[in-house]
Amino acid sequence: MSNHPNLVLVTGAGGFIGGNLAAELRAQGYQRIRAVDIKPLEEWYQRFDDVENLSLDLNLKENCEKAAEGASDIYNLAANMGGMGFIEHNKALCMLSVLINTHMLQAALKYKVGRFFYSSSACVYNGDMQKTFEAPSLKEEDAYPALAEDGYGWEKLFSERMCRHFWEDFGLYTRVVRFHNVYGPWGTWYGGREKAPAAICRKVIEAKVSGKHEIDIWGPGNQTRSFMYIDDCLKGIDLIMNSETLEPINLGSSEAVTINQLVDLAEEIAGIKLKRNYNLTAPKGVNGRNSDNTLIQKYLNWEPDTSLRTGLEKTYRWIYDQYLARERGQAGVVREAAAVAR
Ligand code: NAD
Repeated sequence: MSNHPNLVLVTGAGGFIGGNLAAELRAQGYQRIRAVDIKPLEEWYQRFDDVENLSLDLNLKENCEKAAEGASDIYNLAANMGGMGFIEHNKALCMLSVLINTHMLQAALKYKVGRFFYSSSACVYNGDMQKTFEAPSLKEEDAYPALAEDGYGWEKLFSERMCRHFWEDFGLYTRVVRFHNVYGPWGTWYGGREKAPAAICRKVIEAKVSGKHEIDIWGPGNQTRSFMYIDDCLKGIDLIMNSETLEPINLGSSEAVTINQLVDLAEEIAGIKLKRNYNLTAPKGVNGRNSDNTLIQKYLNWEPDTSLRTGLEKTYRWIYDQYLARERGQAGVVREAAAVAR
């Protein structure tokens, strides 16, 4: 474990990727971590008492300045987001995350922050290229001509470009990473903002526990996606932050599966078989999407490689424990205290 004396800021640290990143930075020996989220501290998935935890609304410029002051690196993971169900019905809210990104970039400049990490998304890609179910692999250049996911995707694309111009015009060293469906423990698994892997795990658990062996699936089930396990995401963030990569880059698994195959896996882990009810009017997103990893292989000689089977099993077990805790009337299990190792 090496020592890192400089202050590092993680925004969105009460959420899934930000919380896991704060835990990872601690494990790597970072001694000064500032973690910020709009949620009250008791609602964060992970909280560590040797981290400076702040509950601040980063839509506001003065709060971004409070958060950025003294930081050498910023990992900007705060965004108002969720799975397809959330982003299809909350386009304006998703677009308002532009306030967070704008004010964070300005604050980074003001405090002469060394490096700024921006979490973009595969939702920036042109929708016309994602009409087939055969999981088209999306290369970084496929974001243009632009036809991003309405609302959420357009905000990401705009903020990506803002990062680029803060680098070109002001010399702020930015990293722009397009995450493709990240999943794993310590993230949203119910409530409407959860994404497909967590939602499917929860539904399979509900069916197992209740004995009602049926599952509702959004869309026809043959939509294709790739899913990246959180440990790969954290490794990729670290490699990209410490590389010279200034252009937007994919960070995702290239193991494409259909939603039906995702359900197959969850059933296998649970040891049950369910009757599938397809809800064709529910939000389902694009028909096919996969990550083309040529660029990350070229720059980093690495790509996410945790199999979906391995990652989903860990995620399923975690959600199962959370589910039981909730059934017992506990609000949810928050990972807390300095003693917990990753
Ligand atoms: P998340 O919702 O779990 O975490 C985001 C956090 O940001 C939340 O805890 C939320 O409370 C916080 N936040 C929202 N508005 C805020 C505000 N005004 N001030 C301070 N905090 C605020 O989501 P996540 O999955 O951890 O995603 C992290 C980042 O990665 C986001 O930018 C997201 O768009 C991006 N991303 C995630 C995925 C994925 O599959 N999880 C895919 C593509 C991109």
